[in-house]
Parts: sequence; structure tokens; C-alpha cells
Amino acid sequence: MAIILDGNKTSLDIRGEIKTRVADIRAKGGKIPHLAAILVGNDGASEAYVSNKVKDCEEVGFTSTLRRFDATVSEDVLLQEIERINNDPDIDGLIVQLPVPKHISVQKVTERIRPEKDVDGFHPVNVGRMAKGLPTYISATPYGILLLLERYKIETSGKHCVVLGRSEIVGSPMSILLSRKAYPGDCTVTLCHSRTKDIKAMTLQADIIVAALGIPGFLTGDMVKEGTVVIDVGITRVADPSKKSGFSLKGDVNFDEVAPKCSYITQVPGGVGPMTRASLLLNTLLASEKKIYL
Ligand code: NAP
Repeated sequence: MAIILDGNKTSLDIRGEIKTRVADIRAKGGKIPHLAAILVGNDGASEAYVSNKVKDCEEVGFTSTLRRFDATVSEDVLLQEIERINNDPDIDGLIVQLPVPKHISVQKVTERIRPEKDVDGFHPVNVGRMAKGLPTYISATPYGILLLLERYKIETSGKHCVVLGRSEIVGSPMSILLSRKAYPGDCTVTLCHSRTKDIKAMTLQADIIVAALGIPGFLTGDMVKEGTVVIDVGITRVADPSKKSGFSLKGDVNFDEVAPKCSYITQVPGGVGPMTRASLLLNTLLASEKKIYL
């Protein structure tokens, strides 16, 4: 049976390390890391994500600021607020919770955040720096996956990694990061998407699979070979009357079928999700220490 890559435990370890670092900064009278988050509208999932981010900051001793806007806010007003935060010397990192309403350009929002404060790592400058292997903010989900591989000392050099999904926030950066000359990295990467002809033929050759599609149970037992490392990024809310919330969270991997064949595997929930949260905290700490853009 596979070893579980425990995102809950690993993220708790990382949070503990951050907490210690912040206590040390505080004791020396240094600058406490400060994350600002902007939330537009009141989408349930976005509300939950942002409130978790604020809670995470409080827990490790960061300062946090949450700016809420009505869904009808104009693009101009939102961009002005981003500019104000860009110029606020106390705020180290800024995130705008996506998605934003359709009348607001995600590209304009992303590009307006100053790269030095872009702790989500979505600004083209930071994406470019990531692709070139320069110091940068690696976006939280791929960063969390790298940390999980690293903390479990999983060998990646020379391995064939198949990434399922090519989104800007997960699949695409994951494929770049795992093919970099680094650890974790040095993989031979195959990036699959909706136009890939025979995904099973690809996954059967994989030593490592990162599934980021948003299709519950997509990766089945017959699609993996013995000893594969499987990282399940997917989180889909599936109706579940047995739960108080009315839904449960499902990953892209059919865990019961796939786990018996794996060497290592993540679970949903408790895998990549908590690692993503810890990574945002690490990026905020990095921003406050001004170690990337000197
Ligand atoms: P996305 O933007 O919707 O991208 C999905 C990708 O899957 C696209 O590249 C799409 O291909 C591909 N795809 C869709 N159907 C496919 C099929 N039948 N066969 C092959 N490829 C297919 O999703 P995302 O933002 O990357 O998120 C993916 C999942 O991860 C979601 O469940 C999301 O909730 C979850 N997620 C989790 C975390 C976390 O912290 N754990 C963070 C981010 C996202 P095309 O490009 O060709 O359309």
C-alpha cells in the first residue's frame, strides 16, 4: 500500500517553522509580515478561501488586511485600490481572490499588482522569472507540491512526470518547474490536456503523475503502473446529503483503485490543499524579507 503524502502534517510543520520565524522577528523588533487580500463579491467558495487565508495569517502571527468590494465595483476603483496597496509600505504581499466578476479584466488586475508584492506569483514578470529559474514567488499550488515532494525526499531526477491539465495556475507552471534543472525537478515532463489523444498511454509510462483537471475520479487504477507517485490536485464539490454542508470534496484520482498501485499518493482533502495554504504564507514571509527583488 502507498505511503500517504500527508499535506495536513507537512503544512503544520511549515506553519510551525513560520511561527517561530515570526516570533523571532517580533523579539528583535523587526517588520511583521503583512498580507492584504481583496475579495470582490460574495461567492461562497471565494469567501471560504479568503477567510482561511486571513485565519492562516493570524495563526502564524502575520498582520492581514481584508478589503471587500461589492460585485458591482468598477474596474477603475479596484485598480486604484491595488495601486494604493502597492504604495503602502507596511503591506508586503497582495492577493486578489479569483475569479472576479466578468466586467473586470483578470489580466489588468494581475498586471497592476507590483511584482514585488505579487505573492500569488501570477504577474507575467514572476511567471517569466519562474520559467527562467530566477528567484520569484512560485504560485502557491505548484509551490506546495514541490515542498511536499521535497519534504518526503521523493526522487525526481530522470523520472517521467505526466501532468494532467495545463491551466495557468497549476498544470502549466508544474510542468515547467518539474523540468527545471533543480530539485525537485530534472524530470522528463509530458503535459496532457483536453486535446491529448491517449492519456492512458501517457499515464501508464509515468513515474510521477500530477492530476489537475477538476474531473472527480478521472485517474483510475488501470491508468497507472506499479510504484507511481500520484499527486491529486483536484478539488470538486460533489453533492453529498450525508454531510452537513451538503457536499463533499472529491479529487481527480480514484483513490481506492489507484492507491494500492502507488509508492506515494496524496489524499483529498488533506493533500495539496493545505500545502497551497502554507505556500502562500511562505511567499508572504519571503516578500516581507525582501529577498527576491533586492
Ligand atoms: P482548469 O483551469 O479548469 O484547467 C483544467 C485543465 O484540465 C485544462 O488544461 C483542461 O484542458 C484539462 N482537461 C479538462 N478536461 C479534460 C479531459 N477530459 N482530459 C484531459 N484534460 C482535460 O483547472 P485548474 O484551475 O488547474 O484546477 C484543476 C483542479 O485543481 C480543480 O479541481 C481545482 O479546484 C483544483 N485546484 C486545487 C488547488 C488546491 O489547492 N488543491 C488549487 C488550484 C486548483 P484544456 O486546457 O484543453 O481545456
